[in-house]
Amino acid sequence: MTEELNPFEIAQRQLDEAAEFLGLEPGMHAFLREPMRELHVTLPVRMDDGSLQVFKGFRVQYNDARGPAKGGLRFHPNETIDTVRALAAWMTWKTAVVDIPLGGGKGGVVCNPKEMSQRELERLSRAYIRQVGRIIGPKSDVPAPDVYTNPQIMAWMMDEYSALQGHSEPGVITGKPLALGGSAGRMDATARGGMYCLREAGKVLGMDLKGATAAIQGYGNAGYYAQLLGEELLGLNVVCVSDSQGGIFCEDGLECQDVKGHKDETGTCVGLPDMETLSNEELLELDVDVLVPAALENVITAENAGRVKAKIVVELANGPTTPEADEILRKNGVYVIPDFLANAGGVVVSYFEGVQNAYNYYWDLEQVYEGLDSKMTAAFHAVHQMAQAKKVHNRLAAYLVAVVRVAGAVKLRGWV
Ligand code: GLU
Repeated sequence: MTEELNPFEIAQRQLDEAAEFLGLEPGMHAFLREPMRELHVTLPVRMDDGSLQVFKGFRVQYNDARGPAKGGLRFHPNETIDTVRALAAWMTWKTAVVDIPLGGGKGGVVCNPKEMSQRELERLSRAYIRQVGRIIGPKSDVPAPDVYTNPQIMAWMMDEYSALQGHSEPGVITGKPLALGGSAGRMDATARGGMYCLREAGKVLGMDLKGATAAIQGYGNAGYYAQLLGEELLGLNVVCVSDSQGGIFCEDGLECQDVKGHKDETGTCVGLPDMETLSNEELLELDVDVLVPAALENVITAENAGRVKAKIVVELANGPTTPEADEILRKNGVYVIPDFLANAGGVVVSYFEGVQNAYNYYWDLEQVYEGLDSKMTAAFHAVHQMAQAKKVHNRLAAYLVAVVRVAGAVKLRGWV
């Protein structure tokens, strides 16, 4: 039998396991298995050469019982509605596990931003908001950056939404540039939250992380900052990183600013002088202490999970491990910090950004770090204690914490 790789079916399967464990009432279970709302849009965009290209886009509001839908927006050639549904479901559990008053949503546009000019990206971003603008807003659904989207794209989108409203509305989107109402500390928040979780994992496992070796798959925002902060906060020795072109390895550790400089210059970390090169598959199987998948979903599968040698996996990507792979890692004693806990730092600081926009009063970096640390540490230990108390693995424990909170809000509202 071939392994199921449809992310939404995987997300539903994970929920099913939690629902069964909790003895969730069947009506509630059926409701939580589906997105509450989704909008499919068609976006005609004038390209720089004068031609017209038509793009497909989506916004899924999975569940907003605990507060406005919240979640990123991806620009990716392989985007599908089922990927967006899965990511929106995971956002629902993510905001619940870190206990912030938000629901879960996600958006996506099928496009290849690497082949588009800045002006084309701006027109696409504005076209997306002209369609999706009717269902988003600070009180209903707040997008943010994700794979291949960035603060500049958030700025265009906020501006387009503001133009539709007739006044500036910074709270419609998070991950904005600082000059337009962004939050201090949002750029590295996803990786920082993951490193706080790893620090706590080191404590409960009695493992000294100083000098521990690490490999990071993916060198976008999360991957780059994971290297920087893994070294700075925990003293990790990052020996291998990769991007879509492949990976680089250096036994003595990679110099973060060299890798970043090379990537900024050439578009890839591959080719940094004097480094061994290896494939993304080889990176996952390296003999390191900590493995950080920080790219896309379904990279640790039934096929390669048995060869993962890391002691701890910190899932900074959404959905990097398939259910079959999960079971193999568990059997082999690998400690997994599951995605919607490990990568929740981004949405926590997005929440802080929304709060600052609403108050029109802005925090300093220290306040953001302190707030993020306390949210992530509390969430980590809530999951850890659940795992200990119920004798279940971390992912199921994270689901148990999150699903109880979301189901509780749904019940109180009287929806089910
Ligand atoms: N895209 C990020 C995530 O998957 C952040 C979402 C947000 O800030 O709303 O968690």
